[in-house]
Amino acid sequence: MKVALLAPAGAMHRYNGMFSKNLHYAPITLALLAALIPREVNPEPVIYDETAEPIPLDLSADIVCITCITGTATRCYRYADYFRSRGLTVIIGGVHPTVMPKEAKQHADSVMIGLGDETFPQAIRDFVRGELKEFYEGHSCTDISGRPLPRKDLLKKSRYITLNTVECVRGCNHTCSFCAYPSAFGHHVITRPVKDVIDEIKTFRGKVVIFPDVNLIADIKYAKELFTAMIPLKKWWFGLTTTAIGHNDELLEIFKKSGCKGILLGLESVNQETQKDINKRINSVDEYEDLIRKLHDKGILIMGCFAFGSDEDEKDVFERTAKLCIDAKIDLPRFSIITPFPGTPFYKELKEQDRITETDWSLYDVEHVVYRPANMTKQELLDGIDSAWQACYSWRAIFKRFDHKRIKKWFFIYLICNIGYRKYAKNFNKYDERVMTDNSDIPAV
Ligand code: SF4
Repeated sequence: MKVALLAPAGAMHRYNGMFSKNLHYAPITLALLAALIPREVNPEPVIYDETAEPIPLDLSADIVCITCITGTATRCYRYADYFRSRGLTVIIGGVHPTVMPKEAKQHADSVMIGLGDETFPQAIRDFVRGELKEFYEGHSCTDISGRPLPRKDLLKKSRYITLNTVECVRGCNHTCSFCAYPSAFGHHVITRPVKDVIDEIKTFRGKVVIFPDVNLIADIKYAKELFTAMIPLKKWWFGLTTTAIGHNDELLEIFKKSGCKGILLGLESVNQETQKDINKRINSVDEYEDLIRKLHDKGILIMGCFAFGSDEDEKDVFERTAKLCIDAKIDLPRFSIITPFPGTPFYKELKEQDRITETDWSLYDVEHVVYRPANMTKQELLDGIDSAWQACYSWRAIFKRFDHKRIKKWFFIYLICNIGYRKYAKNFNKYDERVMTDNSDIPAV
């Protein structure tokens, strides 16, 4: 049975978009779904990740399965409509269909709501029997122990900087008002047995390991156990945590010993009031410079993510943020626009205030403005984010941000990543609304 697994991508992230290869690691979702297809259906899965290659409109399949986030929803629906017009059955799942199942159902034969670890194989079995249901709802506390390894062999290896991505913890114990993750999947934190994770890492070739999970320290006890077990593997790893890592010296030391070389932190804003407003009270802006120094002392590089456009942001926020990034020596600053994803408290709030201005999901990619900001115009917000990118990724700023006292040894990694993001900063303006919403390469049905 031929199963086509599709991950459509927005214009910025499509193959030949902003990053055709560099800074792009292997995704897990489709590779895992491919592994979960029941053997008894004699599966022949093929993965089409649009960040790595175009999706062929003439693909041959018995069933098409699409993974969808809000920013790709319009394009996913267009593919779904097209493949259904060819007589193919389409299943759709992911964060967006989970919060907007009825909308997704208008474009697909079946919708996966929530986690698909158990429901996806069930849906495939039902399809084979001719009993595919309209909706499948996954449990938020699914057991992910002992599951098969993701079928990374189905990915085009040459399109990624590494295939060494591994999942260890799902979920987050925080409730940031803008974050789609807890709205879609709840607050339950699911961990994979440490042995399963370590055994999977042992199959990896090369030194680098990427943990794409949204919060590696959502369960501190588990994090200590996992990263202690990683120490003998002598890997270099990268992942996402919260600023709470700065308050846990024991775990930070384990991070260092286990080979942590870089973490992504959601620093969000230079305004402490905004942290309160978005319910990210763990972030303390006054501590940012000390936190970065502390992490650099452990040899850990920081990707610091900021989101502009909160109701507390005034027109000087872009300059203040760029200054903080340079002064605090944030290795890889990343800027986005705070986005009201459907299903989130932030979306409900703006909807009630009648401030949502865009309905095309293609613009919900955290780089475009989809609502009326409080203290500036939409254009001022767009110009402001661009100015922050340019200010932080000039050659001068790149060299000024480098903390040569503490992370001198890692200059090569620092430079490669900064060159990649400098390219992103330079091309940022090319992806305007017209480019983002143009899906005319897929025939309309
Ligand atoms: S800490 Fe990160 S993953 Fe967790 S709710 Fe907040 S933004 Fe989402």
